[in-house]
Amino acid sequence: MPLSLNKIVKPQSIALNAKAAIFSSEISPTKRLYVEGVRPNFDRSDRRYLVKNIGKIYRLPFTLYQTVHLIKNDRGVKNSKITKEVFQRMEQLLKALGVDEYGFFEVHSEQLFRGCGIPHRYALVFSSAMNKEAFKNAPSIECQVEVAKIYAKTGNAANKVAEFLQENGFGASPNHSMGGQLDYSQAAKEAGIGVIGRHSMAITRKNGPCHRISVVYTDIENLSDYIISNKNELEWIMDFCKTCGKCIRKCPTEAIFQAPLALDGQHPTRIDYEKCCQGFIKYGCGVCIKECPFTAGNYEKLRGSFKKSEGCGNEKK
Ligand code: SF4
Ligand code: SF4
Repeated sequence: MPLSLNKIVKPQSIALNAKAAIFSSEISPTKRLYVEGVRPNFDRSDRRYLVKNIGKIYRLPFTLYQTVHLIKNDRGVKNSKITKEVFQRMEQLLKALGVDEYGFFEVHSEQLFRGCGIPHRYALVFSSAMNKEAFKNAPSIECQVEVAKIYAKTGNAANKVAEFLQENGFGASPNHSMGGQLDYSQAAKEAGIGVIGRHSMAITRKNGPCHRISVVYTDIENLSDYIISNKNELEWIMDFCKTCGKCIRKCPTEAIFQAPLALDGQHPTRIDYEKCCQGFIKYGCGVCIKECPFTAGNYEKLRGSFKKSEGCGNEKK
């Protein structure tokens, strides 16, 4: 029987819904499901690569199992203020877990996918880099393995941070990098660590779109004492995107729209998620990550040259 990613992530969603203090609203977007029934187009050398690298990805199902366990273990709010000392220990933990950037925001009902709930009102959002080298030959099996590897790594980071916060008397539940209760690109934007590129992924300062996101929900009220959000600083990237369009031109399945479209008549989306998912499963895509100048580029250098050329504004051919 083919592997169902939707079934694998469902227990996490059920566990979060069972503890929900905030639930989606009537205007919430529909949750995007993984496309089922598409078979990977692996040849013999892909299969060999997969077997050779199985050690990098075998932990993924265990991290999802651990996520469910930690959500069930969440005893709710006992403590709502974090001290500097505990926050600094959490920061050290984030560094040790390979989290490159993080932020937080207060979640509102309409930001949750329809039918989804969360136990606490703040979302701590974590981003961990993927290995850029794995995308050099995209589409490829290397990309697929790298994405699975980082799903495990970022999911594990959310688990460990939630566990740390629980041990320190806070209500905290992880949401694995697979199967978010909300749109993670949007979450990165709200948390001030990224803006959403035309390929619909969050572009961050350190890793461009070459990263994955996970979340911890908590009720800690004074995160703003320690985490400074600089949302506006990244907004120039949206102007850059208008002049670029490379991901749109290079996408092998033509999944990326020229401009956001409200396919459900309500919520604008930048990509045809079904087409993209098929491309990813079938070919191990990731072409848009490879092509995005923010993957390879130096953020400051790109900003400097864009500021100089601002005003020219023609999309490259
Ligand atoms: S991953 Fe591939 S199919 Fe999906 S949007 Fe990017 S380039 Fe297109
Ligand atoms: S490839 Fe260009 S248009 Fe697409 S997200 Fe990256 S910067 Fe924006």
